[in-house]
Amino acid sequence: MSLPTGGRRRQLILSPQAQQGCAAACYHAGDRPPGHPRIVFIDAIELRILHLPLVRFFETSFGRTDERVLILVRVDGEGAVGWGECVADAHPFYSAETVRTAWHILSDYLVPAVLGRQFGHPREVGEALQFVRGHQMAKAALEMGAWDLAAQQAGVPLTRMLGGTRTAIASGVSIGIQPSLEELAERVALERAAGYQRVKIKIKPGWDVEAVSFLRQRFGDFPLMVDANAAYTVATSDRLRALDGFGLTMIEQPLDYDDIRDHATLQRALRTPICLDESITTVNRAEEAIALQACRVINVKPGRVGGHAASVALHDLCARHGIPVWHGGMLETGIGRAHNIHLASLPNFSLPGDIAASRRYFDPDLIDPPIEVRPDGTIPVPDAPGIGVIVVEERVASLTDEVLRLHA
Ligand SMILES: [Mg+2]
Repeated sequence: MSLPTGGRRRQLILSPQAQQGCAAACYHAGDRPPGHPRIVFIDAIELRILHLPLVRFFETSFGRTDERVLILVRVDGEGAVGWGECVADAHPFYSAETVRTAWHILSDYLVPAVLGRQFGHPREVGEALQFVRGHQMAKAALEMGAWDLAAQQAGVPLTRMLGGTRTAIASGVSIGIQPSLEELAERVALERAAGYQRVKIKIKPGWDVEAVSFLRQRFGDFPLMVDANAAYTVATSDRLRALDGFGLTMIEQPLDYDDIRDHATLQRALRTPICLDESITTVNRAEEAIALQACRVINVKPGRVGGHAASVALHDLCARHGIPVWHGGMLETGIGRAHNIHLASLPNFSLPGDIAASRRYFDPDLIDPPIEVRPDGTIPVPDAPGIGVIVVEERVASLTDEVLRLHA
């Protein structure tokens, strides 16, 4: 799957009028009182579209993908550099956003709204983007780049700015739909031997009860969960009820991508906890899901909710209600993966997430050294300033199809 970029490179500069127009639209959001100490000043932003081949195809209920097309956001301020990664895919299957919609929203609205402005705290960058409705992944890419920049400027690891308490996170693995049950068992054996603390398999109607039953027969009792990516309906939920006797740690997003109510009905009928992913696009949606008891676990993905500030708010909301969270994955490169590790260091990330070693997906990765999982199934939280990893800019440049630089 690839975008029709044709490999061309282009450099666009927005007109001063266009920049002024968007900044004026949100003038109220990030302005500081005169004399207030500035923490984040953004003087340049660069957007890039990259194509990266995947080490191995990844298949979900949406279909199979062999490469990752993504946007990187580089945020410059006073000599420091922050990086953000947009998790929108080339196609609108997991969410309505795509690489192309994110590019449009970033370049025409979001970047002009923050360029040349100063913010007292990186969370205000997200607030300054709220004049655009939705487009959480586009917002998150820019907002997370600003958090990295702010932590770089302050000389502290991002975990400290976010309120993290762990020095290492528990790592789990997500295994896509396989060509056969034997190949699935081989993948599971491989990942368990690598130390991952739990295994998640993608399911869809026809690849569900048999797959789980096969794994239980082969490996017995071990931490296993399934993710349906909204592949079931109320009419086909008997398949989900049939999964209830296998001791799964949870069933992730079985029903429609924006549903809360039917999940609540299903949760009442299941012993296995339901975890919501796609349905939780805002903190308000999470409040609604918790109030309706539609889930007992929530998967946090900063790209899905608009960035780090919203993710911290979602984490805190869940903690207040006794709902454990874990960190999801969106086939991020090492840049997005490093952001996720820092976020997952917060205390209520009490279940192993989908943050795995880089080399499962990309070889080489965009960062050096790549992210590795230790034999005990944990990943250390980087302790260098910002996201704490080294971005290999030559590698980024060589994989770039399109670039847009904007200066204050
Ligand atoms: Mg999921």
